[in-house]
Amino acid sequence: MKKPNNLRELYLEKELTRKELSELFGISSRTVGNWLKDSRIKKTGNIPSNLKELYCSKKLSQEQIAKVFQVSQQTVGHWLRKRGIKSRPFAGKGPEHSQWKGGKLVDKRTGRVRVYCPNHRRTNKRKNKVFRAILVWEKTHKKRLPPGYIIHHKDCNPGNDHPSNLQKITPSKHRELHIGMKKNARARNSS
Ligand SMILES: [Zn+2]
Repeated sequence: MKKPNNLRELYLEKELTRKELSELFGISSRTVGNWLKDSRIKKTGNIPSNLKELYCSKKLSQEQIAKVFQVSQQTVGHWLRKRGIKSRPFAGKGPEHSQWKGGKLVDKRTGRVRVYCPNHRRTNKRKNKVFRAILVWEKTHKKRLPPGYIIHHKDCNPGNDHPSNLQKITPSKHRELHIGMKKNARARNSS
């Protein structure tokens, strides 16, 4: 007998057991087991009765619920869909983060802008963010920012990542440049 197309639906949505399926199709439950294995259909266990309360009232994240019941986050997501509960964004990293602001992060101290970019080689591994200035520079110049170089903001506004405002420079030259600028500013002010 050919595997029915609605196997997933019957097993996962309508929650028929293997035995019921074997009776329905007049086959052995071993065959049902093989079908499920072939189609990678996995039962996700019983949906906890307090799921809605935990998720909607107590505002536990899917990650936290997964820990409570020792299941994967995927399973929790599946439970929510089955119960018709609209899921909130995950409290994880990146776009799923509940505090996600388009991946832009302005450093409060320096004013430099970082963006979410997990695969960039200059990415801060803990935060998965890279300086936007680097991305803009690389896009403008159509090449990688060479190792050992950083980006200087010509107008000294670290939030201004316009291509015309960015200059590649080594950290030591950068330090000199800023010390020089400070001196000039002081000279201007005192004259
Ligand atoms: Zn600078």
